[in-house]
Amino acid sequence: MLRLVDINTYYGPSHVLQDLSLEVEKGEIVCLLGANAAGKTTTMKTIFGLVRPNSGSILFEDKPVEKKATGEIVQSGLALVPESRRIFPRMSVKENLEMGAYIRSNRKEIDADLDHVCQIFPRLRERLKQYAGTMSGGEQQMLAMGRAIMSRPKMICMDEPSMGLSPKLVETVFDTILRIRDEGMTIFLVEQNASMALSLADRGYVLQTGKIVLSDSAKNLLTNDLVRQAYLGG
Ligand code: ATP
Repeated sequence: MLRLVDINTYYGPSHVLQDLSLEVEKGEIVCLLGANAAGKTTTMKTIFGLVRPNSGSILFEDKPVEKKATGEIVQSGLALVPESRRIFPRMSVKENLEMGAYIRSNRKEIDADLDHVCQIFPRLRERLKQYAGTMSGGEQQMLAMGRAIMSRPKMICMDEPSMGLSPKLVETVFDTILRIRDEGMTIFLVEQNASMALSLADRGYVLQTGKIVLSDSAKNLLTNDLVRQAYLGG
């Protein structure tokens, strides 16, 4: 469904992504693991046209998207849950969710999806009128996921959804990711929390200083020596 082929991305002279290739098939949960500064967020930004690769191609449903504007990429069915959520703090929860549907116009369908998101996240229904910026980190993460679902994507990319959350909330967020997948969503997940990510992913890639150094089933990665030493605490 999503394929990155030989991507090279620079920030000025700094060669951040080096010949990066990966793919996500329909219905899969695929995770990209890596330490601080490995290039995980840059990978996400490159997929969404927020940073342009110097070379390489990005195919979504077999169509090249690496030269498309971010809005067009979202229109084609990819949604991003960005790092640190990036919700709109001075807007209500409902307004934030509606912003997720900005590319759509059928009011009836938008209302039905709003209701669906509130079924997945009952906490959001209780807080629809509240300013989003006054919610807890976990609630804001749910809102960011709900906002992505509101664009009716075919695939969701999530940048470190567990960041800054308590272990209990991390579990809630990861349970929700499984639920969304069971409803038919394809998910690409970037995470530092390797044990949680591998516990729910089908496959994973390991990124070290901009290069993919390992790619395997999540089950095999959990027992891989390099992964255990570098990401699972030995
Ligand atoms: P983290 O988990 O800490 O967010 P990451 O794996 O997401 O790390 P990136 O944010 O992709 O890493 O950063 C990869 C490298 O690129 C880092 O060395 C970072 O300092 C550098 N970098 C990121 N953004 C920029 C930028 N806008 N300009 C210059 N260098 C940048």
